[in-house]
Amino acid sequence: MLSEDMIPQKWYNIQADMPVKPMPMLNPKTKEPVTVDDLSSLFCRECSSQELNQTDRWIDIPDEVRQRYANYRCTPLVRAYGLEEALGTPAHIYFKNESVSPIGSHKLNSALAQAYYCKQEGVTNVTTETGAGQWGAALSYAAKVFGIEAAVYQVKISYEQKPYRRSIMQVFGALVTPSPSMSTRAGKDILTRTPNHQGSLGTAISEAVELARMTPGCKYTLGSVMNHVTLHQTVIGLEAEKQMELTGEYPDIVIGCFGGGSNFGGIAFPFMRHNFSGERNTRFIAAEPASCPKLTQGKFEYDFGDEAGYTPLLPMYTLGHDFQPSNIHAGGLRYHGAGTIVSQLLKDGYMEAVDLEQTETFKAGCLFAKTEGIIPAPESCHAIAAVIREAEKCKETGEEKTILFCLSGHGLIDMTAYDQYLAGNIH
Ligand SMILES: *Cc1c(COP(=O)(O)O)cnc(C)c1O
Repeated sequence: MLSEDMIPQKWYNIQADMPVKPMPMLNPKTKEPVTVDDLSSLFCRECSSQELNQTDRWIDIPDEVRQRYANYRCTPLVRAYGLEEALGTPAHIYFKNESVSPIGSHKLNSALAQAYYCKQEGVTNVTTETGAGQWGAALSYAAKVFGIEAAVYQVKISYEQKPYRRSIMQVFGALVTPSPSMSTRAGKDILTRTPNHQGSLGTAISEAVELARMTPGCKYTLGSVMNHVTLHQTVIGLEAEKQMELTGEYPDIVIGCFGGGSNFGGIAFPFMRHNFSGERNTRFIAAEPASCPKLTQGKFEYDFGDEAGYTPLLPMYTLGHDFQPSNIHAGGLRYHGAGTIVSQLLKDGYMEAVDLEQTETFKAGCLFAKTEGIIPAPESCHAIAAVIREAEKCKETGEEKTILFCLSGHGLIDMTAYDQYLAGNIH
């Protein structure tokens, strides 16, 4: 089969099939459920309507987006024979390799869709914030592809200390501004109060949102948490489903690392629909960092999706929007909340979560690198560590389970983190 034929024609909207639908997002001022109009003051209209769509099970992938997907999709589904052998496990371990995308992670799957819809709607500029820079890089490239301008506010300390992703965004032609900056009112206020402010995601979000609100033809974008982002990521699981069919196996366990839930939902949801229908009984495990354990230790309540309090109030597992996780290397997992769909699914017992310490995740990542030849992103190491735990259980019980996980990205720009692990500086 041609790999291009394997690229789905439609994304899977799990909201249509959920036995209990997520509770509504609320407008923080009126406490009324948000409408597409409310959302589209910030996000483009099509994404706003996808966000609230609880009825259409399948949503067409526009041809232009599918053509761009074809540059790197379908991504490989790989049996990790080397890892299986090293572990001495009877389990069959497969991974879906999203690290082969041009920017090195799954984030491009949604960036391309969001930039395309913006272009269609006459939007000329997009903004976002970025910490470590993975989302900023994906959006910068996607904006260039569809001929729109990207302005990215990068947390000042990362801008200065992690220059490579900044350079990547700049190579793609994005305007990258260290936040807080003098270019917005929010930034000026912060700098007036604290001239040496090093920036945080909160300051960067405030600036990106302000720019989007103040600039005609400009929209704000997010790379995780929101339902429309996870919808776009279902290409991962839909492809994996067809690829698993070719192997003659079906996963007993599906695992993804968990920041705001987009790569986890992307690989898990297409398989989960067969659990809803009663045909299958797959286990789904989200792997989160112990330093930011919203799924295993957060509360289910209404909270803001962002640190600055600009998004609607979302019903989700959260550690509180002002929670400050420690500065772990898996920057993409340092997020306080879990997104409304995953939160409802966890509450209703359709999935599980585990939290893992950095030492265990880097150890797992190094074993994966040695046995499979790919340096995983520090985020993806969490999924690998959870896989290893399950594979070791299989070794004890002798069960030949099939485990599938999402390798959300490679870690070639994160070698400083590996250096520190090898030097024994990560505890
Ligand atoms: C951003 C990122 C994540 C976390 O985001 P999710 O929305 O939870 O998938 C995980 N892995 C990589 C490589 C990332 O860049």
